Amino acid sequence: MSVIAFIGLGGNLGDVRLRLEAAIGVLAVTPGIRVTARSRFYRTPPWGNVDQPDFVNAAIAVETSLGAHALLDALLSTERAFGRVRDGERWGPRTLDLDLLAYGTAIIDDDRLAVPHPRIAERAFVLLPLADIAPDAVLPGQGRVADLLAAVDAAECFPLA
Ligand code: AMP
Repeated sequence: MSVIAFIGLGGNLGDVRLRLEAAIGVLAVTPGIRVTARSRFYRTPPWGNVDQPDFVNAAIAVETSLGAHALLDALLSTERAFGRVRDGERWGPRTLDLDLLAYGTAIIDDDRLAVPHPRIAERAFVLLPLADIAPDAVLPGQGRVADLLAAVDAAECFPLA
């Protein structure tokens, strides 16, 4: 049995776009994962601590035979493979974020995984790329992607050429 899942990608250090491309490539060859759609890349303003570089964000759709937690494990190991840069003696800041945005119609909330990702509805940087690939998808408990996007301020987010 396979499930459609949506994955959000982002980062703000170094050549993020190249890294996101590479991370998508790794996921695409991961057993049990087939990438079926990918969004444009977007430049988005930093959130939380605003004293940092802009982010680049994207989203992909996958068809997967992995369970939700196994898919999360694949995301976390891809994050580990790409998400840190050597900075002299120590590991530098994380440069790749992969979020499991939705996993079919599942609603999961345990100590490892919250799906659909609980903060999608307030984040233009997640909704914009997600709307590229799945505007009509309904996120369980949250709503339709295009409707959620219409309710947030995406004025400072721009697709990259
Ligand atoms: P962060 O570093 O803030 O991206 O948090 C990563 C941790 O969040 C992981 O260790 C996961 O166990 C947990 N987590 C919970 N829900 C999700 C989700 N939907 N996607 C990715 N990570 C999640």
